Amino acid sequence: MTALRRTVRLRGAPMRPLDLNVMCDQCNRSRAHGNHTKCSKLRQAEAVERRLPNN
Ligand SMILES: [Zn+2]
Repeated sequence: MTALRRTVRLRGAPMRPLDLNVMCDQCNRSRAHGNHTKCSKLRQAEAVERRLPNN
């Protein structure tokens, strides 16, 4: 069974694990509480920067 499982690769490098934790990685607070709109926008901005070729 394990032979069928492959590491998802993006441009040759393994993908970072998805953020499925209940804590917000931007403000380190529970995602169930408070407004995390800014946090998600920060996260998006980081994702865009990571995608830039001159980085
Ligand atoms: Zn947050």
